[in-house]
Amino acid sequence: MRGRHEEPIPAARPVIGEHEIEAAVRVLRSGAVVQGPEVAAFETEFSALVEGRHCVAVNSGTSALQLTLMGLGIGPGDEVVVPSFSFAATANAVRLVGAEPVFADIEPGSFCLDPDAVAAAVGPRTAAVLPVHLYGHPAAMDRLLPIAERHGLAVVEDACQAHAAALNGRPVGTFGAAGCFSFYPTKNMHSLEGGMITTADAELARTLRLLRNQGMEQRYANEVAGANMRLTDVAAAVGRVQLGRLPVWTEQRRANAKLLDSRLTGLHTPPVADGAHHVYHQYTVRVPGNGRPDRDCLQKALASRGVGSAVYYPTPIHRLKAYRGEEGAQARRWDLPETERASAEVLSLPVYPTLTGAELERVVAAANALGGLL
Ligand SMILES: *Cc1c(COP(=O)(O)O)cnc(C)c1O
Repeated sequence: MRGRHEEPIPAARPVIGEHEIEAAVRVLRSGAVVQGPEVAAFETEFSALVEGRHCVAVNSGTSALQLTLMGLGIGPGDEVVVPSFSFAATANAVRLVGAEPVFADIEPGSFCLDPDAVAAAVGPRTAAVLPVHLYGHPAAMDRLLPIAERHGLAVVEDACQAHAAALNGRPVGTFGAAGCFSFYPTKNMHSLEGGMITTADAELARTLRLLRNQGMEQRYANEVAGANMRLTDVAAAVGRVQLGRLPVWTEQRRANAKLLDSRLTGLHTPPVADGAHHVYHQYTVRVPGNGRPDRDCLQKALASRGVGSAVYYPTPIHRLKAYRGEEGAQARRWDLPETERASAEVLSLPVYPTLTGAELERVVAAANALGGLL
């Protein structure tokens, strides 16, 4: 039972501290509030996370994905291979540029795209593959890149949940033509709203800078039809504060995950592939249900003990209304057994860096008491 003085533990706890508030006020007082010096500094500082790649700040992770696909010239008639086991934004970005997402299954050992399934999904219209580093675990880039190369596909990394994750020592956001990060409040670091595109390609970086600002480099000399996806300097200033704390926060997430790994009984703890540096955006266990709603029961029981948890994602993208197509019509049929199984079994427990030791103990105690009853 929850003690009388114990506050519920939320599933996520975004940080907006005094440093963030001071930074925002400083920018507001300066008057330079949109795509000014703070944005430029944020881009420069973020590039240290991605081996000095060009960084282009935008107003969200979704914008980062959409702008990148635009910049790569992907549009109507093109297909992009994506996982269905992700946040809808991954597929939305594809649709927003007029292309079609093609859903491929995931590997049970990482919850990320299965390279064999990607190879099988490639057809004559396939222009790109969009792996997601889900939950902060890097996708199998070492096996995806050769497939993309063989078929001449662009690789765009959805790194929205994976700031500072790495595979075999190489950071995410450096593998593909571009990497896309989100700074939404619940992510490993935030800028209120915001996003970043990382790329080694100077030409692509210039195109992205044009496209995020109405197609202008010089004011009122629009070179192409662009969007307005600019980041504010208030957001960038908050992002810079958070970026400075990211290394400590990442280590704290990893330490929390290690403690949960060693103490949880009766649940399948998160898999980590060989060579993967997992940054635990989420700490996601499996609650195998054999067709019974054990996962949902566990979530409710945890909540009654003051332990928040969340299901990412209860409905795979291909079964969402926006993507499942008309009943009976030419709707494409998808065979994604690992995706279906994951969406029925996963549950994410609190792992964020501001959890106290006592809170972690409460998560462990509640999960172990309940997990054993399933
Ligand atoms: C959060 C997220 C996005 C979108 O980022 P926003 O900043 O919310 O637009 C895209 N893909 C994944 C996997 C995400 O988790």
